[in-house]
Amino acid sequence: MSTFTTPDPALVSRYRTRAPRYTSYPTAPQFAPIAAQELVAGLAAGTGPVSLYAHIPFCAKRCHYCGCHVEIHGNRDIGDRYVDGLLAEAALWARPMQAGRQMAQLALGGGTPTFLRPAQLTRLVDGLRALWPQAAGAELAIEVDPRTVTKEDLENVVAVGFTRVNLGVQDVDEGVLAAVNRPQPFHLVESAVATLRRAGLNQVGVDLVYGLPQQTDETFTRTIEAVAGLAPGRIALFQYAHVPWLKPAQKLLERFARPDAEGRTRMWKIAREKLGAAGYREIGMDHFALPDDELVASLEAGHLQRNFEGYTTHGGLDLLGLGVSAIGFFGGRYAQNRKDREGWEADIEAGRFPTERGFVLSDDDHLRRRVIMELFCNFGVRFAPAEADSLAAELARLAPFEADGLVVCTPGRVEVTELGRFFIRNVCATFDKYLEADDGKRRYSETA
Ligand code: SF4
Repeated sequence: MSTFTTPDPALVSRYRTRAPRYTSYPTAPQFAPIAAQELVAGLAAGTGPVSLYAHIPFCAKRCHYCGCHVEIHGNRDIGDRYVDGLLAEAALWARPMQAGRQMAQLALGGGTPTFLRPAQLTRLVDGLRALWPQAAGAELAIEVDPRTVTKEDLENVVAVGFTRVNLGVQDVDEGVLAAVNRPQPFHLVESAVATLRRAGLNQVGVDLVYGLPQQTDETFTRTIEAVAGLAPGRIALFQYAHVPWLKPAQKLLERFARPDAEGRTRMWKIAREKLGAAGYREIGMDHFALPDDELVASLEAGHLQRNFEGYTTHGGLDLLGLGVSAIGFFGGRYAQNRKDREGWEADIEAGRFPTERGFVLSDDDHLRRRVIMELFCNFGVRFAPAEADSLAAELARLAPFEADGLVVCTPGRVEVTELGRFFIRNVCATFDKYLEADDGKRRYSETA
């Protein structure tokens, strides 16, 4: 069995603070209104294949831990109108882009993408392919809720050409699931995996959350064992972010016991040991993958990248975000869509980008973004001499981390140690020039 270094409680408490998860840099709170000409310039400059993310915000019922942008809806008819909006929005983005660009990656997240009926989903994917023809070897990924998805939905997901499915499992213990308002008998998860495999789709991932109410070492061990027993190619293990001032439904969880920092550290250790013993490789901060998964090859080649979907093998492409709240990154610019569906629709109908805020990166932002992304993905980063000079103050601030055995700094290189991986958000925050001045740090979850 693999063994892992686990930080002692004193170290955890010393480094416990609030910091971003760095799915972008600068992070979304730094975004500000951005002119349409900036977006057009970024779109027009790009060449090569594109990556698309479409946000489907609808869910049948709210899970109380949820941190996503969702709209609770009981009627799948709304999907027709929403798909119309997504395709009209996609056409707006495509207009200034150079001809001949192909779609190398499509990710559907939410919310619950399979809230869309099979015909709606097919129309969406075909409409996107009409704008950006699908590249050979493209990855089409979709998040699936095992509680609400039907056999017909899953068979259509495969028929329409999705190559990867991520199942939102979160936990398998009945008590934990009841506490978070997500009853989900495990046989629904098993049956979804079996249906997908029978239909010929083998790239299945599972999302789990640790730090949830009512979780204990015992329940969490059972969850990890049950999920490992299904042998999904990838497992994403996210730490629950308790931010009830941003997500009021989370207040409902405060009547239950939640694992403290020490408990969460033990759960992280349980997951690493059990999944390591089951043959999984650790990928970045919070993912595990079987050796034949593309993420492992990407990690070994040093090409692993990170975006809003987590770790990806397609991170260098222009990313277009479609749908309410979606974020894109193209031509050195971030663009985030409006979150209100009515306003999003009105902008699209008027032929305007539905962008609420964005950010044009400076050279300094690009350097810091590269450093943070490489640390998050590969746990190490190299600097050219001029880069090390411009980040001299930040590198000096790593001295306490080095004294605690979390990083090793040599000229032109910072490497995160095995122990330091647990504190990767703290290490990356050192290079975030906006965080210190950010008086809204409460919006971020705790690092440990
Ligand atoms: S199904 Fe997923 S997106 Fe919808 S409320 Fe639950 S956790 Fe949030």
